[in-house]
Amino acid sequence: MAMFSKILIANRGEIALRILRACKELGISTVAVHSTADADAMHVRLADESVCIGPPAARDSYLNIPQLLAACEITGADAVHPGYGFLSENARFAEILEAHNIEFIGPTAEHIRIMGDKIQAKKTAIDLGIPVVPGSDGAVTPQDDAHAIAREIGYPVLVKAAAGGGGRGMKVARTEADLDSALSTARSEAKAAFGDDALYMEKYLGQPRHIEIQVLGDGKGNAVHLGERDCSLQRRHQKVLEEAPSPSLNADQRKEIGEIVASAMRKLKYRGVGTIEFLYENGEFYFIEMNTRLQVEHPVTEMITGIDLVNEQIRIAAGGSLDMVQEDIRFEGHAIECRINAEDPATFAPSPGTITYYHTPGGLGVRVDSGVYQGYKIPPYYDSLIGKLIVHGRNRVECMMRLRRCLDEFVIDEIKSTIPLFRDLVDNQDIANGQYDIHWLEKYLANKSS
Ligand code: ADP
Repeated sequence: MAMFSKILIANRGEIALRILRACKELGISTVAVHSTADADAMHVRLADESVCIGPPAARDSYLNIPQLLAACEITGADAVHPGYGFLSENARFAEILEAHNIEFIGPTAEHIRIMGDKIQAKKTAIDLGIPVVPGSDGAVTPQDDAHAIAREIGYPVLVKAAAGGGGRGMKVARTEADLDSALSTARSEAKAAFGDDALYMEKYLGQPRHIEIQVLGDGKGNAVHLGERDCSLQRRHQKVLEEAPSPSLNADQRKEIGEIVASAMRKLKYRGVGTIEFLYENGEFYFIEMNTRLQVEHPVTEMITGIDLVNEQIRIAAGGSLDMVQEDIRFEGHAIECRINAEDPATFAPSPGTITYYHTPGGLGVRVDSGVYQGYKIPPYYDSLIGKLIVHGRNRVECMMRLRRCLDEFVIDEIKSTIPLFRDLVDNQDIANGQYDIHWLEKYLANKSS
């Protein structure tokens, strides 16, 4: 296998830096791209070369395919790592790169396309033997009798957008009286957000946990699972804190669902990293979607397995074979990640601005993935994630104690951040007991503000 000589990182922020670090350790040259608003970013400073690809708005820079191609041409990059978000799940981008003999570090365009359409993804999951949420058989069109379909599924039902993402185009109908308005709101939201108004319906689960399985495949029919992450702590369908292993699974349950997913990925000949997301309720797993990219929360898996997922992505994209079998994978201890956002911890209003003082925690089992530094000015144009604190311990109790200690050490002045929210959470009895579902955090926040 011929390793890449130069990788262009088509992203920004903490994930651009994360990818840059993996490239450096592999001895691969790096190209950073940036908008005019990100000229001072840490990944730009540390990259071997950098190219400005446009003005602040993402559609003119980080999503601008002709500019990215030009940057590859100018620098002679032979591969592109898309990170997460932006173009990471854009099948057309993967195809265009391929047509230019530049490797896309990710799965095939075909797999991105299948999993990007949730209706098709769900059908594929069923074919591969993965358990799914009961729901409509494919799309629900305006010609269908939605009321009959919903009655058959049983209320409450969830109306979802086939092209969905970030919780948009999703509406609950608690009773038959809510259904028409749920459908029309979801349809217009989906049309506006994704330019695609295809909808489907599924059973709305009342108290599930969000448990996802990390997979790694080489595109040649070899695949392993790297255990689960519990991402049940969410606000507006956005993950806030993630942990591995899940407080609600034992080793046998992990092995069982892990093997179902890994064998599905072998059948699919899936290439690269991927995440199969499930809702988990009363001991049953229900597939909701597959993400065909690196996830924000990938470090918790790295902390308990010792496997560098970005290194694996790069090796596999270069044609390498999986160099491990399932039996090689050991799960050690416990890891928790807190997403640090530049937001007011009570109202979640964005809080961009200059970081006047910055001090990160350290010590055994502590990892901070962030692109910010003292004097850095957080631009207002992008999402508010400014870093992640990931902590590992030999068991969950040690991990929680270490997390509390790290949150106390962490200083990010003068902007507002979500650190105080995490300080409250580590002291909460339900969190200490691992007893929370996907609605827990919203209820907690509502109680706190009333
Ligand atoms: P998106 O791609 O928009 O993030 P997902 O299908 O991944 O959409 O769902 C996001 C979140 O919405 C899940 O983590 C869960 O909190 C909630 N959700 C999705 N499907 C259901 C369902 N059938 N019942 C209850 N909650 C759901």
